[in-house]
Amino acid sequence: MAEVILKNIKKVYPHQEPKKKKKGEPEKKTNLQITEEGVLAVDNFNLHIQDKEFIVLVGPSGCGKSTTLRMVAGLEEISGGELYIGGQLMNDVAPKDRDISMVFQNYALYPHMTVRENIAFPLKLRKMDKAEIDQRVEQAAEILDITEYLDRKPKALSGGQRQRVAIGRAIVREPKVLLMDEPLSNLDAKLRNQMRAELIKLRQRINTTFIYVTHDQTEAMTLGDRIVIMKDGVIQQIGTPQEVFNHPANLFVAGFIGMPQMNFYDAELVLEDGQYAVVLDGAKVTLPEEKQAKLKANGAAASPITLGVRPEHLILSGDESSMIHGTVDVSEMMGSAVHLHVSACGSDTIMIVPTTELESTSAFTIGSPIAFTFNGAMAHLFDRNT
Ligand code: ADP
Repeated sequence: MAEVILKNIKKVYPHQEPKKKKKGEPEKKTNLQITEEGVLAVDNFNLHIQDKEFIVLVGPSGCGKSTTLRMVAGLEEISGGELYIGGQLMNDVAPKDRDISMVFQNYALYPHMTVRENIAFPLKLRKMDKAEIDQRVEQAAEILDITEYLDRKPKALSGGQRQRVAIGRAIVREPKVLLMDEPLSNLDAKLRNQMRAELIKLRQRINTTFIYVTHDQTEAMTLGDRIVIMKDGVIQQIGTPQEVFNHPANLFVAGFIGMPQMNFYDAELVLEDGQYAVVLDGAKVTLPEEKQAKLKANGAAASPITLGVRPEHLILSGDESSMIHGTVDVSEMMGSAVHLHVSACGSDTIMIVPTTELESTSAFTIGSPIAFTFNGAMAHLFDRNT
């Protein structure tokens, strides 16, 4: 249980070594700043984590998530800034004295030890008495539902069970902060979903602060009290899942959060008779009152913009003047909704249409014309050049 404060944290690697890609991680080129000292892997990182908060660091491969986590753990030297855990400056404190535990993607269990011995290991290192060790190990095993495997060796366990043992070993010490680096990436999709739900339960049962690293936005959205979205070593936005979904701070966050991805269009913001509207491919959508007021308050000028609309906010009916015309490329029946891939405005659009809104899906044959518009209240407007 502790607050964690990262103040202007910076990491410079003297030179960049090619890094092994983690399993399941998409390939991503980074645009890290190179200075005279080396590669700026993390820069100007400011975050105040509350006691018992579950924080998720998320972003594409190479954006600096693991480096940040490893600096909190003490596994990586901090090049600049200050790290406080429970009010104590930790920059130069050895990892073992930080009262933190870390769970790694590859489990890092000792193969020659039983599950019981693996979980007990950090307590033995601390010379805790045997009765207390036994009690704590039993308790951790119960929380993680692995009691029946306590006398097995790791090789006799499935991937999901091994990951539970790794978590057991991390929580048994009751650390102030629990750090997790892509803990679910080695599991198959079904097990990953199951373990995600288990982590939510675990969180209710143990009193600790969590810092969790993932490249998977679904994990970030479902696990985090707050999410920190990173790109090229720099924080792009910090917010609750709802905040980053509803009010993405920039184009990168808008494109990164949400599945399927937000649609983006080159459009124009126009101002006519004191009313702001968005014009796209000849279609015009006047913005609702709340958005008008915000744009007015900011003194927004008519300008080229990038319009972002989530697939679920495109609609099939509206004023004739607001309709955008396109062609259906693919129609995917998902049960409760149809996902339509449409060519319109010179780009690809994805629409999610709930089946309850349709009389029949037969109209969406490949190549058929389609008209759609968007709800102005749900439109995201970005400067064209950001
Ligand atoms: P993420 O966890 O987001 O995938 P990392 O924190 O692992 O990203 O890496 C951030 C950047 O720092 C990457 O460009 C990576 O290649 C670089 N990097 C990581 N570790 C080292 C190292 N030991 N030496 C040099 N560069 C490194």
